[in-house]
Amino acid sequence: MHDNIVLIVGAGPTGLTLAVDLARRGTPFRLIEAAPTPFEGSRGKGIQPRTLEIFDDLGIIEPILAAGALYPKFRTHAGPFSLRAGSLAPFRPPTESVPYPNVWMLPQSRTEAILRERLCALGAVVEFGKALTTFTQNERGVDATLSTGENVRCDLLVGADGGRSGVRRTLGLRLEGETVEEKTMIVADLEIEDLDRRDWHLWPFAKGGMIALCPLPNTSLFQFTAKAETAKAGIEDAVRRATGHRVARIAWSSTYQPAVRMVDRYRVGRAFLAGDAAHMHPPAGGQGLNTGVQDAYNLGWKLAHVMRGGPDSLLDTYEAERLPVAAVVLGLSKRLHQTRSIKRGDATNLLALNYRASPLSSGAALGTLHPGDRMPDLQLDDGGRLFDRLRGPHATELVTPEGPGILIRPDGYIAHIGATRCDEYAGAPTHRLHLSLERLIGEDRR
Ligand SMILES: Cc1cc2nc3c(=O)[nH]c(=O)nc-3n(C[C@H](O)[C@H](O)[C@H](O)COP(=O)(O)OP(=O)(O)OC[C@H]3O[C@@H](n4cnc5c(N)ncnc54)[C@H](O)[C@@H]3O)c2cc1C
Repeated sequence: MHDNIVLIVGAGPTGLTLAVDLARRGTPFRLIEAAPTPFEGSRGKGIQPRTLEIFDDLGIIEPILAAGALYPKFRTHAGPFSLRAGSLAPFRPPTESVPYPNVWMLPQSRTEAILRERLCALGAVVEFGKALTTFTQNERGVDATLSTGENVRCDLLVGADGGRSGVRRTLGLRLEGETVEEKTMIVADLEIEDLDRRDWHLWPFAKGGMIALCPLPNTSLFQFTAKAETAKAGIEDAVRRATGHRVARIAWSSTYQPAVRMVDRYRVGRAFLAGDAAHMHPPAGGQGLNTGVQDAYNLGWKLAHVMRGGPDSLLDTYEAERLPVAAVVLGLSKRLHQTRSIKRGDATNLLALNYRASPLSSGAALGTLHPGDRMPDLQLDDGGRLFDRLRGPHATELVTPEGPGILIRPDGYIAHIGATRCDEYAGAPTHRLHLSLERLIGEDRR
């Protein structure tokens, strides 16, 4: 007998997001994490606008906004001179359809802590210090063995176990692609004496290559990035030589090799890959964590439905929808890395990525609304906001007196435009909202 649970392997941002989504849907799961304690580094610090919308839906937008800040301006140093100019992206005010238009910065460890707190509030926990060592699967289920010696029998398994994924290896899949930088890079969180915390400091002419120090909001730390060879005599030495400032403490450090790689399958039988286990990005463009969170958000409601007896074919749409997205985002990350561009435009905010080619998208376009697109926020007839009404695990049907309606999936993408009338969508109850066609199509969406 197999237990009717999903086993999530890895409690990074991807595994945590999936666990929160399953917990709020009442789907039984276990979330195991090899590390004995939570990850402590700042690593993926840029949260993109679309991910902020997902965090809003998952009920954590307030702590995410409270813990973070907008990206600071760049200050470029050359000898005794420095110039304060430019930023990652120009500040944008919220609009009716995009409530979170700016990329938001907070250390990855903080994002993970907020997801864990939400998970705890939903009555679930991360099982730290338990690594998946091996698993087999057949038509009845998955048999997994943990480092503790425990055998876990589950219905479905999700490998959210990062770039060195053992789940991927066991499935016989490979990350195909290329290393986009021959040199190993170093990233660290540092306390630096007397360095202005208003700016993201760049020393482009430092010996051995650029040194960057970005202040991490609501901490006393800066995120340091450089080529590893720049710091071969130690991070303290590299920082002092390039900047004249003393490192008071190294809170965390790691190395990485920027690469663009992905698998060609996201599913093998009852096992799935998500996040870095399925695609590796160079940090340029800040897409890795964001793409992982969005994989999890796409998979969560589908797993929940199938675990309640829905058709297994729904799970095939996970790969059909997310694999092409990973390819597009990887192409973008590679271009940004190769052009050394530090400025970001609309392409990186992930709002325009869509599932138009998905078998789950049907109907005809209405104004600028298109089946498969992210449903934009809008003001309702009663003055409320659509996103407030989408929040939660349900699907939503927008009904107009003029006829056309819109069915919005539980993950906020448009499933269908046209005549709709349903009480549930993929097992999720459908909330019905009435509004005028004029409001639905909207001024700025015509
Ligand atoms: C310098 C740098 C800057 C970055 N900046 C950004 C950015 O601004 N924005 C962005 O979106 N991304 C950024 N990234 C990328 C981002 O950090 C990753 O994409 C993100 O961590 C991926 O999340 P994940 O949950 O898929 O994998 P991970 O964070 O790697 O988590 C995987 C987890 O699985 C656990 N695990 C592994 N094996 C097992 C096992 N056998 N059993 C149980 N558990 C296991 C690991 O211990 C780990 O906790 C950056 C990366 C770097 C290096």
